Amino acid sequence: MVFELEPLFNNIGYTMDISYDMDMSDVDFNMTRPFTTPVRVRGRFINSAGVVSVSAVAEFSLDLFCDRCASPIVKACRIPVEHVLVTELNDEENNIDLILLDSFRFQLDELVCDDIFLELPSKFLCKDDCAGICASCGKNLNDGPCSCKKSVDPRLEALLQLLDN
Ligand SMILES: [Zn+2]
Ligand SMILES: [Zn+2]
Repeated sequence: MVFELEPLFNNIGYTMDISYDMDMSDVDFNMTRPFTTPVRVRGRFINSAGVVSVSAVAEFSLDLFCDRCASPIVKACRIPVEHVLVTELNDEENNIDLILLDSFRFQLDELVCDDIFLELPSKFLCKDDCAGICASCGKNLNDGPCSCKKSVDPRLEALLQLLDN
């Protein structure tokens, strides 16, 4: 969503509420399109003693698959969007949290998207101790062990056979 920020920069103490839903359903992530429901963006712009900042939160759930066992999972996410907005940079300022505006018409969506992708983990598991799938038979080992023999050293196998007999 585009915000007209000129009154914010011109009035100390001024605030503007942010409350809208963002459609990211056509955005690819981890070879899928996990943003099946809108991203809720809530917060505000504020001019505090002449310093303009955005303080918001993006909330959404991701529909994707466990990286280990491929089960479908839904992850609820909450990503903070906190930046200081400036219309010009001084040489000594080299802070990545500073956002340089090229116009008072500010498109917030791109910033929210950038923050989401910076914060999202690259791997998602259905649970921390997901057992994954068997490489031989493909069974989901979270449902219990499969009947594949554990691959063992052939010398050890001979010994195990001896013990079996
Ligand atoms: Zn899993
Ligand atoms: Zn197996």
